[in-house]
Amino acid sequence: MSSKPLPILPGATLGILGGGQLGRMFTIAARTMGYKVMVLDPDFASPAGQMADVHLQADYIDHGALKQLGAACAAVTTEFENVPAASLIELANHCRVSPGAAAVAIAQDRSHEKSWLAQNGFATAPFALVYSEGDLDAGMADVGGPALLKVARFGYDGKGQARVSTIEEARAAFREFDGQPCVLEGFVKLECEISVVLARSDAGECALFPVAENRHENGILDVSIVPARVPESLAQQAREMARDVANKLGYVGVMAVEFFVADGRLMVNEMAPRPHNSGHYTLDACVTDQFEQQVRALCGLPLGDTRLLSPVAMVNILGDRWQNGGPHWNTLLAHPNIKLHLYGKQTARPGRKMGHFNVLDADPDAALRLAEQMRHAL
Ligand code: AMP
Repeated sequence: MSSKPLPILPGATLGILGGGQLGRMFTIAARTMGYKVMVLDPDFASPAGQMADVHLQADYIDHGALKQLGAACAAVTTEFENVPAASLIELANHCRVSPGAAAVAIAQDRSHEKSWLAQNGFATAPFALVYSEGDLDAGMADVGGPALLKVARFGYDGKGQARVSTIEEARAAFREFDGQPCVLEGFVKLECEISVVLARSDAGECALFPVAENRHENGILDVSIVPARVPESLAQQAREMARDVANKLGYVGVMAVEFFVADGRLMVNEMAPRPHNSGHYTLDACVTDQFEQQVRALCGLPLGDTRLLSPVAMVNILGDRWQNGGPHWNTLLAHPNIKLHLYGKQTARPGRKMGHFNVLDADPDAALRLAEQMRHAL
């Protein structure tokens, strides 16, 4: 490998696989810090491509494009878990790559992820691996109904998931998913959901962001509230578990660990090998945001201070808001303590993440109240 020595300093070119909103916010952070950015994404109008110095419009498995990216960049990262692990390995022949292919390969497949978590002693919802219809009988018996059948790969924001109560429903859902490998998961009675975004350096140093409390609607993150309204002992436990996950993965970069809280106990739901939607509050509420942290971890710089400067409520803006006359930006922007972030997406579709806003207030209840008010008024 012809890696540049660390740290990689401003002036160098950084690469990112994926041009969605996470790539866009990484690109903005990197350019703010004086780096050049090259984005690889097949979409000519990608949110990150609009912000980059160079947009390579090609597929993630295009050898020519990967070679060009690897030759131009001192280091490359990714903004989504579905990037082929083989592309990361190919890139690693040319430049520094973080996170590594092994961690991404675990996180991008629910069956690998659940098995890894269980083998490493992390509590999860009860689950069974399903590779054929025959696995469903034992699976339903083990896990019990009601349960969720989830496709192992390429599911996101509640897509590729079906709630099933009987073996007949489980079979029908499995056929609906064309017999793809799945995970059958016991349906957990959730008290709430929380997440921890963290960065881990080459040297194994971890910087953890404050715990977020997350509310979902139709399987999509709707609102994050920080600090999470859970007992401090539980928040501390979540941070320790997240750190443990990162250490055991030997992870380098920014990642998120999502938890279910049930009966006062934590279960790991999933992990994301990248910055996370539930960490968008850091953009306005922390000394260092998760995207600057991604740049720092990638470049081998010291990790930034993750301190929370103000309680905050983050609200996702979905494409649904464009129906019936579009969002009322003036209503939102009339509030001096609201910060708007839009991703430059050309087409609004229901369920598509178009942007988010952060409501900052010294009183966390007031932040949440205004966030909920604006969520409806928009
Ligand atoms: P996922 O894509 O697996 O994170 O699922 C999206 C959302 O669906 C989660 O954030 C939960 O709100 C809900 N969900 C997923 N799995 C379960 C489960 N086993 N029990 C209860 N709710 C779940």
